[in-house]
Amino acid sequence: MSHSRPQKVLISAEEIQSRVQELATQIASDFTGAPAVVVGILNGAAPFMMDLLRLLPASVASTLVYDFVDATSYRGSESTGEVQLSHPLGVNIAEQEVLVVDGIVDTGATLQTVLAVLKVKRPTSIRTCVLLDKVSRRKFDVPVDYRGFEIEDLFVVGYGMDFDGQFRGLRHVAVHSLST
Ligand code: 5GP
Ligand code: MG
Repeated sequence: MSHSRPQKVLISAEEIQSRVQELATQIASDFTGAPAVVVGILNGAAPFMMDLLRLLPASVASTLVYDFVDATSYRGSESTGEVQLSHPLGVNIAEQEVLVVDGIVDTGATLQTVLAVLKVKRPTSIRTCVLLDKVSRRKFDVPVDYRGFEIEDLFVVGYGMDFDGQFRGLRHVAVHSLST
């Protein structure tokens, strides 16, 4: 069973929390006070985005609106190269400052697709925030404004990242061993 496969801790829960705090501080200091919407990309962004929102100063967090879009491109540990979007935005982002949050950016296909969909809705600005960035895998030139950690080309699980639905609840990020 995939549950019992060996997994090596890549980034500990403590390292994640202190980096998320740094990102929250940076985002808050860039915050202009204009109406802003945080958009998470399901499912992977959820734990990261909730921690990020909790670590923002209350004065900033209390003025934000947040919502999610759903994007799927992976089957197992392989990118299908085809991004499927469902769960459209339920909030207005016209003339708002938008921060798009995802757990990991790999080829950039997901972020590029989501950014294209959001831009049509005419926000004032769009910035992006990802916890993990596999820079060497990039195929699409997407802007990453806030980056938690740059990682190598490894398939990781935990802290929102899954392998066929499992391991999202880990508090740390681990390298998923694909050998049995
Ligand atoms: P991209 O579209 O940039 O190639 O990939 C982004 C999406 O692929 C992420 O939102 C995530 O769902 C998934 N993904 C990319 N790399 C990994 C990985 O190492 N582990 C897991 N669990 N998902 C990944
Ligand atoms: Mg995802």
